[in-house]
Amino acid sequence: MRVLVLGAGFGGLEVAARLSEALGDAADVVLIDKSDGFVFGFSKLDVMFGKAPAESVRHAYADLVKPGVTFVQSAITAIDPTARRVETEAGTFDADILVVALGADLHPDATPGLVEGGHEFYTVAGAFGLRDVLADFAGGKVIVGVTSTPFKCPPAPSETALLMHDHLVASGHRDHSEIALVMPMGVPIPPSPQASAALLTTFEERDIDWVPDKLVRGLDPGRRVALLSDDSEMPYDLFLGIPVHQAPAVVEASGMTVDGWIPVDPLTLETAFPDVYAVGDVTSVGTPKAGVFAEGQAIVVAEAIAARLRGDTSAAEYDGNGICYLEFGDDQVAKVDVTFVPGQPPSGTLDGPSVANAADKVEFGTTRIRRWFDQPWPRG
Ligand SMILES: Cc1cc2nc3c(=O)[nH]c(=O)nc-3n(C[C@H](O)[C@H](O)[C@H](O)COP(=O)(O)OP(=O)(O)OC[C@H]3O[C@@H](n4cnc5c(N)ncnc54)[C@H](O)[C@@H]3O)c2cc1C
Repeated sequence: MRVLVLGAGFGGLEVAARLSEALGDAADVVLIDKSDGFVFGFSKLDVMFGKAPAESVRHAYADLVKPGVTFVQSAITAIDPTARRVETEAGTFDADILVVALGADLHPDATPGLVEGGHEFYTVAGAFGLRDVLADFAGGKVIVGVTSTPFKCPPAPSETALLMHDHLVASGHRDHSEIALVMPMGVPIPPSPQASAALLTTFEERDIDWVPDKLVRGLDPGRRVALLSDDSEMPYDLFLGIPVHQAPAVVEASGMTVDGWIPVDPLTLETAFPDVYAVGDVTSVGTPKAGVFAEGQAIVVAEAIAARLRGDTSAAEYDGNGICYLEFGDDQVAKVDVTFVPGQPPSGTLDGPSVANAADKVEFGTTRIRRWFDQPWPRG
């Protein structure tokens, strides 16, 4: 029975690794991704703020050697979820079971003026390119701004504002700089009032201007102003944006999306199409778009598939729980443990910020890279 896993990000890697672990050579898993390697979302911040060299955070798929798993580097050009047939630039693949884990595509060009007059740090190219820009930045007005919803890793803009503060202190430019954070929510992390309160206190302590309930609709590069959703304007010298997110075009064209994302059963991750699952950012499952949730969903799907291949059934259900690591700057990290249950308000607790949690976050990354690539991490 062939399992086709589309996308080798957080969710796809976890499905493939779990199936290999459960079934070994008896698995027939084909994992397809257009990219040549995986980069953690949080590693983008490490590179842009000069804390890690780019080559140390990219994990080449060529190193992925798992019993029962074949990796194919190719762009997926069409998905037929009824026939479970996938077209790629490397040929056609038929599946008995299909897992769609293609994430969210990013569109900096959908925000007027962003490409010409600002920067984004959500793509690998954008974040890695910012490393030199930040190293050369001599201070001024900095805006970290969200351009649309939904967006991945809702804590990342707050982390970026705090790390920007550290960066400007270290480079000696903080006293003649301003940092503003423009977000579409009333508090930084709505599911965790505790984490939101801690962040708002820290913003105040570090003189970061919190601008809630607004989006950045565009930039006017000529006048160097950001145009906000309430028609107000904010001047900037450096704009760090969170670009527009959309399901990949190939997913939209497949007919699987409703209101932009793939609906799934929130407990089993089954789509409306028989033997087709979807996990992670590409879904509208009801959890935030973050790797830790994609991983939790992938575990449930892998258990269901492994049980079925053994002629068994799985009782595993997705519990909506995840732990997000939140950079507070000053080498401190907080852990937000949050659970999303359909029909109930989300609940979350906060641990830290602390230096111990920073070590925990490294351990989190290390265990994933060991499980997916059988490699040590961090490197170099
Ligand atoms: C700055 C930043 C910080 C973050 N920090 C955290 C964090 O601390 N914790 C956390 O849990 N999450 C974090 N995230 C979010 C996290 O990176 C994503 O939510 C997570 O990667 C989603 O997993 P996924 O498997 O759904 O999709 P992805 O990991 O995005 O994987 C999708 C894969 O599909 C491939 N693909 C797409 N289209 C095609 C196609 N047509 N053909 C072939 N391949 C294709 C892509 O190349 C990609 O490899 C962060 C994100 C950012 C941007």
